[in-house]
Amino acid sequence: MKEPFKSAIPVLELIEKAGFKAYFVGGSVRDYLLGLPINDIDIASSATPSEIKEIFPKTIDLGIEHGTVMVLYKNQSYEITTFRSESDYVDYRRPAQVTFIRSIEEDLARRDFTMNAVAMNRFGEIFDPFKGKKDIDAKTIRTVGNSSERFSEDALRMLRGIRFVSKLGFLLDKDTYQGIKHNKHLLEHIAVERIASELDKLLHGDYTSSGIQLLVETELYHYITGLQDKKTALLELSALPIQSLLIDEKWALFSHLLQKGEKEIKRFFIGLRFSNKRVQNIVNMTRWLKERSINSWSIESVYASGKETALQVEKIYQLYDNQVDPLALDKLQAIIEVLPIHSLSDVKVSGSDLIQWKHKKAGPWVKAVLKEIEMEILHGRLENNNEDIKEWVTRCSLN
Ligand code: ATP
Ligand code: MG
Repeated sequence: MKEPFKSAIPVLELIEKAGFKAYFVGGSVRDYLLGLPINDIDIASSATPSEIKEIFPKTIDLGIEHGTVMVLYKNQSYEITTFRSESDYVDYRRPAQVTFIRSIEEDLARRDFTMNAVAMNRFGEIFDPFKGKKDIDAKTIRTVGNSSERFSEDALRMLRGIRFVSKLGFLLDKDTYQGIKHNKHLLEHIAVERIASELDKLLHGDYTSSGIQLLVETELYHYITGLQDKKTALLELSALPIQSLLIDEKWALFSHLLQKGEKEIKRFFIGLRFSNKRVQNIVNMTRWLKERSINSWSIESVYASGKETALQVEKIYQLYDNQVDPLALDKLQAIIEVLPIHSLSDVKVSGSDLIQWKHKKAGPWVKAVLKEIEMEILHGRLENNNEDIKEWVTRCSLN
């Protein structure tokens, strides 16, 4: 068996030695069968959380009531979830009741898609009661059991299905697709945070074009806060090769396509419960993207946006507008190289220097003169050193 499973084999062995069953499950097995890079290894076990905690000295409680414990073993961490069945789904959301069980088969039955319901033991043998491997080979996403039933138990699964299309480039099985069309309105019952997290993952995918198009085609987007009236921008985004952008660069591009004011853009991301930091970053990039689509870069705009933002925005802009001047990036680089300062804090003098030199009381004039000095330095008309600035200040008359 290959890494990272190889290193995890002793974890399964220890659980089995203690008299329990343990399997690799979920996304890691799916990605392994697909030959994709594997992020984190999920393990399912017949041992309950407290039984797991007796086996391993180092554990972290992740969600004991749902049966999940993180085990730290040889500098790696593994999420171990007790086999469980779920029942009493209330309001089309996660189950109200989780029952720990001792059979893997029942545990696999509560999972969302057949490709995610494949288990692998420590010898690399596959346990696949729902024919997930066949679906993986056929690149098909199919719910475990009746799609409408599974989507009405937990409506988030519809969005998960589409984000897996975006990640894997698979197709939705016909019944699964119909299940989304029939149950799409149930997504309204799902917490915005869970939806936003799936949307981020959807945009992360290599096949965003298919994923976004499905969001529109199934009309699932009608039931996502703030997205209802954004069909045109969604389709425009789906037509662009955005893979090389960072996640918030993708969101900034989407915001640009919306052609809305900053307030409305802010409201959209706050509605999706994005952190203030992310919202600010996205809005800022969108602002400069708009400026960039009107004017090419100048010393002032690169300085005001900051070089990192300018480079990010140029990257997004190049991708968005294929009419762009092929030398635009070189020009931006050239401006960045000649910038004598990158922010006011680079200016070698401070407000208190000015007060001292001018023998004047502090007041709004200090900020105004500092701004002038900043601009003089930026445009290369004044050297950024204490002596030259002092001379310039002494010469300049203040009113
Ligand atoms: P990724 O590679 O993005 O992590 P994943 O398949 O591992 O994909 P997770 O969200 O990490 O997805 O969930 C791990 C596993 O738990 C899934 O493979 C699936 O078997 C199960 N699962 C997760 N969410 C649900 C859900 N809403 N309904 C049913 N099963 C789920
Ligand atoms: Mg996972």
